[in-house]
Amino acid sequence: MAKFTLSTRLLLSHLLVMVVGLGTFVIIAKLSSPRFFVLRLEQLEQRGLVTVRSARTYLIDGFESAWNSSSLWSVVIGGTTAGALSLWLSHRITQPLSEMSKITQKFASGQLQERMPAMEIPELNALGQSFNRMAKSLEGVESRRRELMSDLTHELRTPLTVMRGYLEELADGRLDPSPELYLRLVRETQRLERLTHDLQELSKAEAGYLPIHLESVDLLPLLQGVMERFQDQLMDDDPVLILDCPPDLPPVCADFDRTEQVMMNLVGNALRYTEVGKVQILAWRSPPVVWIAVVDTGIGIAPEDLPYIFERFWRAERSRSLHSGGTGIGLAISRRLIELQNGHIEVKSELHQGSRFQFCLPMV
Ligand code: ADP
Repeated sequence: MAKFTLSTRLLLSHLLVMVVGLGTFVIIAKLSSPRFFVLRLEQLEQRGLVTVRSARTYLIDGFESAWNSSSLWSVVIGGTTAGALSLWLSHRITQPLSEMSKITQKFASGQLQERMPAMEIPELNALGQSFNRMAKSLEGVESRRRELMSDLTHELRTPLTVMRGYLEELADGRLDPSPELYLRLVRETQRLERLTHDLQELSKAEAGYLPIHLESVDLLPLLQGVMERFQDQLMDDDPVLILDCPPDLPPVCADFDRTEQVMMNLVGNALRYTEVGKVQILAWRSPPVVWIAVVDTGIGIAPEDLPYIFERFWRAERSRSLHSGGTGIGLAISRRLIELQNGHIEVKSELHQGSRFQFCLPMV
């Protein structure tokens, strides 16, 4: 049975059911019909309606042969019709399956735009729809992978080109070495360093290799520390950075450094994408969790971009040209870090109005 195709199996199972049905019918009818016939004849004789004693054997033989030929015909005609019907039915069931198999093969060979058509059989239709959802997401992953390659190349090429240019000019004696020049070179290497660091963090976070030390953490000192680290960067008045955290906030079960890392990413982004207005850090309890939000009055995120915001290397097109500093990895790392601490992160945003990134952590 191991090598039989599905259609052969369906056909065989139909035929088996038919053979058992017909066989039972023939055997039982064959055993019982002549007896009933004889019984009926005896009843008729007892009532004196007919005297068939002499013709009895002849009648029984005649009945038997008539019965045999009619049951032979019914088995032949019934069997052929049922067999043909079963063949047609199994073909109808297996034909969409072989079509699905062809589509998956094409998909596997790289034709990522292939999709399953609507199917008549609900279960197969549901399977086809799930395949289509998976195909769409894989197609997205593939196109993002290509984007990532070109992004990475771009990110690497820019600082490398700048550095090579300076170094060549220094070597030729066309440029005099100066502290400013070396500082520019240092900045370019820092850019490369940040990129490789972010990539490493992300791959560790995604593979689950980032060590997370869960302990009781007081959020107020953590948030104050984050405020202090950003205060130095805020030269002028805009945007203002505000902390709104109740002093009696219960401790959460989290990793201090990782939570701080997430806050640095969220506040850093909020400040980067906010020209005027304010960036607020809020915290409140909502048992069994504590929420922390970073709210800004910045450029906001378009509704069609929101679903992708936590995906790695994703950057809104406009910000990419405006701010070349980001790598598009920060939010992907933040989400993973929050999930590793049994929390949840979400975003609400309106274009030109501002964004609100908030995450929760479980209370101790
Ligand atoms: P990046 O290092 O590029 O900032 P992130 O993963 O932290 O990477 O952010 C991804 C993208 O999300 C950013 O490039 C930006 O387009 C958008 N973004 C993140 N935070 C904000 C914000 N507060 N306001 C507007 N856009 C934001």
